[in-house]
Amino acid sequence: MDGTNKSSLFSTYGHPTLAFDHGKGSYLFTSDGTRYLDFAAGIAVNALGHAHPKLVEALTTQASKLWHVSNLFAIPGQEKLAEHLCDVSFAQRVFFSNSGAEAMETSIKTARRYHAHIGQPERNRLITFTGAFHGRTLATIAAGGKLEHLDGFAPRMDGFDQIIAGDLDLVRETITSATAGIIVEPVQGEGGVNVLPPSFLQGVRALCDEHNILLILDEVQTGMGRTGKLFAYQWSGIEPDIMALAKGIGGGFPLAACLATNKAASGMVQGSHGSTFGGNPLAMAVGNTVLDLMLEDGFVEDVADKGLYALQKLAALKDGNSDFIEEIRGKGLLIGIKFNEPPAQIIKCLANEHVLSAPAAQNTLRLLPPLNTTRAEIDEAIEALERTLTKYRKRRNS
Ligand SMILES: *Cc1c(COP(=O)(O)O)cnc(C)c1O
Repeated sequence: MDGTNKSSLFSTYGHPTLAFDHGKGSYLFTSDGTRYLDFAAGIAVNALGHAHPKLVEALTTQASKLWHVSNLFAIPGQEKLAEHLCDVSFAQRVFFSNSGAEAMETSIKTARRYHAHIGQPERNRLITFTGAFHGRTLATIAAGGKLEHLDGFAPRMDGFDQIIAGDLDLVRETITSATAGIIVEPVQGEGGVNVLPPSFLQGVRALCDEHNILLILDEVQTGMGRTGKLFAYQWSGIEPDIMALAKGIGGGFPLAACLATNKAASGMVQGSHGSTFGGNPLAMAVGNTVLDLMLEDGFVEDVADKGLYALQKLAALKDGNSDFIEEIRGKGLLIGIKFNEPPAQIIKCLANEHVLSAPAAQNTLRLLPPLNTTRAEIDEAIEALERTLTKYRKRRNS
């Protein structure tokens, strides 16, 4: 079938036809000027919307000065952003890279290396949970364990022991003398917006302390304000040893970070890891500005409030559309609408109403608005969804 496709691209993404020319705030525009409300936000990446004046200024100012120097030289913006991230989180150390999967790779390497460094190299396995997504590199597809992602890419990388999420007794039974740590995605985004209960995170934290193993949080999607706290772990009152960030942290510029405590990072000595592009001056100029904007008074609290507002309105939508909608779930502006059928058609119909959304597993449609969206835009999206379901029902029943 793909043999007849004239595209020079890999077929990995299918061949989408909808394309955009420019964006402003929460809206995207096609080249003929048609406007779409962007509640996919580049899959939780455009956290401050499109063409935010301060981000444009930070990027263009830096672009006219210096793009890239490599990590053979000091990059002052790295020190600044790392220090700032540490000030507002559990962490004392930061390593910058370019994508979520890379930040997860760094997290996995950091955990293994910690135990090797303290004389326990046999502690090199990580416990992971079904439904989590950690990226598409060879290590992170093994960690994620999703068969569709592993298919055809054998041999599967060893070192991950996967169990279902939510069962603390099972976690306890799975820990052995070879366990280096536990990887948790606090709200499983790609997996269908499954919010893990705070009590589970607390229990996992206690087990990690008991066995002197490391808690790694994959906050690639949940971090940087998305759930209505700067980091999702702050909802549960626990702190990780290592955390991966990406998506929103660069506001659309490729940027990722692995954060760690001094203890957890102690094995990552000079020469143990590296990245050519990681933390380059362009990325740092944007990353520092994104964090400054997110730390402005009331920003994350407003995300939490708007999230509650959206969840309430969606609960009403569900009541009127219970023939389609099974559940509304989420935290902050990471919102899932679970349908009783795969959401692909509904996402397409919603796009015909000029509102963009993203799919997730478990028949879930994700709404991932820019974090600086407004209540009026949330109303607009939900009204469009209501129209969509009405039309879709008519079409289905005719
Ligand atoms: C998107 C995502 C990743 C992978 O990020 P990439 O930038 O695509 O490599 C990893 N973990 C989680 C939780 C994600 O949502």
